[in-house]
Amino acid sequence: MTEQLFRDDAYLRECEATVIESADGAIELDRTVFYAMGGGQPGDTGTIDWDGGSVDVVDTRYGEGGAIRHLVAEGATLPAVGSTVTAKLDWDRRYRHMRMHTAMHLLGSILQYGVTGGNISATKSRLDFDMEDTVDKEQVNAALDALVAADHPVICRWITDEELDAQPELVRTMSVQPPRGVGKVRLLEIEGVDLQPCGGTHLNSTAEVGKVRVGKVEKKGRHNRRVNIVLDD
Ligand SMILES: [Zn+2]
Repeated sequence: MTEQLFRDDAYLRECEATVIESADGAIELDRTVFYAMGGGQPGDTGTIDWDGGSVDVVDTRYGEGGAIRHLVAEGATLPAVGSTVTAKLDWDRRYRHMRMHTAMHLLGSILQYGVTGGNISATKSRLDFDMEDTVDKEQVNAALDALVAADHPVICRWITDEELDAQPELVRTMSVQPPRGVGKVRLLEIEGVDLQPCGGTHLNSTAEVGKVRVGKVEKKGRHNRRVNIVLDD
C-alpha cells in the first residue's frame, strides 16, 4: 500500500520516494504526493525524476491493495525497482483541482438538494442536483462570493467508527452519510458551511478559491439540474 502524503498535506508539491514496482507503463512508489483518480477528482500529472532519467506521469490511478499507480506513456523509460526518485506534481493543474473541489463543497452548501453526480477538472466542474426548481445564477454567485470573502478555514480530520457511533448528532449534520466498516473515515469540515466524508484534496481556506462563478446550468430531466462552475483566472 502506497503512503498517501496528499491526505495529510494537500500542499506538498513533491517528495522523495523509493520505487516498489516499475513495469507495464506504471510506476509504484512507497509514498507519493500524487492524488489517484477518485470522488470525481482526476488523477494528478507531473514527473518522476531520478539520477540520469525522468519520465512524465500522464495519470494516476489506484491499483490492487491500495497501491497508487503513476501511469506513463507507452514505451517510456522506467526507473529501476529500489531506486530513489523525486515525484513532482504539475502543481498549477492540481491547485486548480483544489480550488474547484473546495468550490464544489461551497456550491453543495448553497444548493441544499441531493447530489446525484459530479466531476472536477482544471477548467470546468459540475455537480448534478436532484431538484426541480430553477437555479438562480445571480443568487448562487452572490452566495459563492460571500463564502469566499468570509475566508472560512477548511479542516480535514480522521474519525473512527467508534467516535462516529458515539456522536449521532454529528452524523445527522453531515450532508453525505459516512461509509461504515472501514475503521476510520476522513472528514472535511468548513465550519458552519459543510461537513461530510471526503477523500479529495482541499484548500486550507475558502478565500483561496478566488474568482469562481456558475457557468451553464443544464436541465437533465425533470429532477436533475447540472450546475457547472468555472474559475475566472
Ligand atoms: Zn472534498
